[in-house]
Amino acid sequence: MSPKSDTCPTCDDLNNKILATKDNEEKYQEYEVEKELHLRKAEKGQKNIQMQTVQAKNDSKYHVITFDLQQALPTPKISTRPAFYKRKLWTYNLGTHNCGIGVGHSYVWNEIGEKRIRGNSKLLEKSILMTFMETLLVAISDNCCGENKNWNMIFFCLWVISGRFKRIEQFPVPGDTMLPNDRDFAIVERYVRWQVQCVYSPDEWICVLQLSAKSNPFKVVQIQQSDFISTTELNLFLQRNTVNKNKESIQLRNCASMVFQESEPFTVTFYEHTAGEIQCAQK
Ligand SMILES: [Zn+2]
Repeated sequence: MSPKSDTCPTCDDLNNKILATKDNEEKYQEYEVEKELHLRKAEKGQKNIQMQTVQAKNDSKYHVITFDLQQALPTPKISTRPAFYKRKLWTYNLGTHNCGIGVGHSYVWNEIGEKRIRGNSKLLEKSILMTFMETLLVAISDNCCGENKNWNMIFFCLWVISGRFKRIEQFPVPGDTMLPNDRDFAIVERYVRWQVQCVYSPDEWICVLQLSAKSNPFKVVQIQQSDFISTTELNLFLQRNTVNKNKESIQLRNCASMVFQESEPFTVTFYEHTAGEIQCAQK
């Protein structure tokens, strides 16, 4: 696997800055260095996925998942002629790749009857997570603060670890890093491009996902509204704390990994740019 060839927002931003500061050597150098650093982090993310996958293959108590939300799937989808619909119905696929056994899981839901289910900041109770017990879980996702690096996700990890995992390590990786999910999504997209004429209902998307990977089919799970966990209660119960034990402030966006341990149910440890440990005390 190599890093993605298409650019991420950070790369786009830095490329623009580099172009705009061609006449200012000092600034130009500064942005060049920043870009180099950013790309090295993506490479590090790639190596981390490979290393973790090897570990997961060799140890049955060590689980590695990567997860990402596929671009929303529209219905109706008509490929033969241009069609205008006032309102499309969207189906969502949260891809979760189990790296140890190399199987992609699709958790699928749609907008019918539920307007508030959005994004992958909520992982799902029906999910793969419930099949791992007493284990170490490594969860790798895109480094997007809105989707994956936020308080809802932290509270969810603190909640899910209890009685189920010894330790959860979460690695948000830069946008350039190719997740196994990207390969899974590409398989679906290729199948849709060549084999699927039209999709008229969300249920048909389930079939498309089931049929798209021939040799190693995706495990497709349909998600109902009742399968979602509301993070509202967790927000009521736990305090958002942005200072560590030494009262130094912690910036979520700077963290490169987070560690949750069953033995310390209210503590999350952040690593890299601003290493530190914070307590999410009960309110
Ligand atoms: Zn980038």
